[in-house]
Order: sequence, then structure tokens, then C-alpha cells
Amino acid sequence: MADLVSDEGLVLRRRAFAEADRILVFFTRDQGKLRGVARGARRAKARNAAGLDLLTRSELLLVPGRNMAVLAQARAVGPTWPGADIVRTACGGVLAELVDATVEESHPDPALYQLVSEARDRMATPSEDARLELALLSFQIAAGGGYLPDLHRCAVCGEPLQDREGGFLPALGGIAQGGCWQAQPEVIPCSAATLRVLRRMESGDLPLLRRLRWSEPLRDEVESILLAHLEHHLDRPLKAARILADLRGLAVPRV
Ligand SMILES: [Zn+2]
Repeated sequence: MADLVSDEGLVLRRRAFAEADRILVFFTRDQGKLRGVARGARRAKARNAAGLDLLTRSELLLVPGRNMAVLAQARAVGPTWPGADIVRTACGGVLAELVDATVEESHPDPALYQLVSEARDRMATPSEDARLELALLSFQIAAGGGYLPDLHRCAVCGEPLQDREGGFLPALGGIAQGGCWQAQPEVIPCSAATLRVLRRMESGDLPLLRRLRWSEPLRDEVESILLAHLEHHLDRPLKAARILADLRGLAVPRV
């Protein structure tokens, strides 16, 4: 098999195909997003099964094809995803949907792959804060795509933002304060502390953000704002983000 290609990838999506096969969508390091078929993967004793679970990071051996690669081997690497932890699983689900919505097929982006696979490994590690990692990754995806929210000027009047409470307006991609936000129909509260955290993300101080003691309301607000921003920009609802919002019992836009 001279045309076998080795790569590493994350399983973003999968579905049953034919009698015992699976079709999978991977985000790979060297080839970007690609579809592959795993023959016999649904048989009880399938050899590659562990490497084909959702959100698994796997070393892959592939035979490239015109529309779809054929998977010869998948060996799971990195921490195992703790399936019983529903918050962690929901975070992983958002990660998969976000990456799937952001990355185009056949556009390799090894730097993004590195970022996403590190976030995935952290989210899967029980001692790490999966929701914080999801927020950081969401911000970095928006930064890489050139559609960060504006954290410096009021989205309505353009005045400089102050160190005070306001509201995030997904449709405008920014924050309004004072009289500008109270009149808006769909806004997510953005406290002064949330604005400071978002600005820290902008300055790229990830070690400091990971050392921060995050209160639940602060993390909820940062997460709601970033996911609402990405959903609006990508023009696609993130199903797992709804589950995550239900789990924290919040993220209701203020009316
Ligand atoms: Zn204003």
C-alpha cells in the first residue's frame, strides 16, 4: 500500500454508513478537515473503534481518495475523554461544532490544529477547567478569523468603553454601556469584571487567565458572550452550546 498517508486528527462528526461502516469527519493536522470511511468500524470487534470515538485525538493512516479517504488505522493518543462528565462532554461538543463550522475542507491549518488539539487535551483532563478552556479557545478562534468583538468602543455610539457594567449585543459584535445598552432588545449582560477578562484575553495573557479565580457568574457571562458572538458570526446555532447553557441555567438574553 504505497499511497498510505499518516496524519493526526480529531473526530468532529461521525455517522453510520452501509452495513457496518462509519463515515467520519476529521480535523487533521496536515490535511485540514477531511471525510473518511472506516470499513467495518461498527462490528463488535472492530480494530480501530477506540480511535474513532467523537473528539478522540488519533494517529491516522489513510488512503487518500477523491471525495473521501479510506481509513486504514486509527490509534487514540492524548488523554481519554471522560464520557460520564456531562459538562466536559458539552464543552467538547461545542469545540467540535465550532471547529467544524470554522474550518473548510482541504485547507490545512497546522497552527489552528495545534491550538485546538491542546484545548481538547486540556478539556479532557479532569484537573483542568473545561469551560475556561472553551472560552479561551472561542476567543482565539474569533481572533484567528479576524472577527473579535470590539472591546474598546461602545457598539452603539462609538464612545470609549468605561470600567463599568454594560451589555453585549451579538448583532453588533460589541458592547454598549450606559443609556445605549438599556434600550436594546437582545443583550447579554457584561459586567466590568467580564470586560476586564475579555480584554485580558485580547492581550493574550493565557497563563494569568488560567490562574484567575473565576466566580461562576463571571465565567457564565464570558462564555455566553463569546458563544453568542461566534454563533452570530458563523450564522449557525451551536447545539452543544444550548446544552451547556442549560447546564449552567443561564445565558438568557436580557429583554
Ligand atoms: Zn454608547
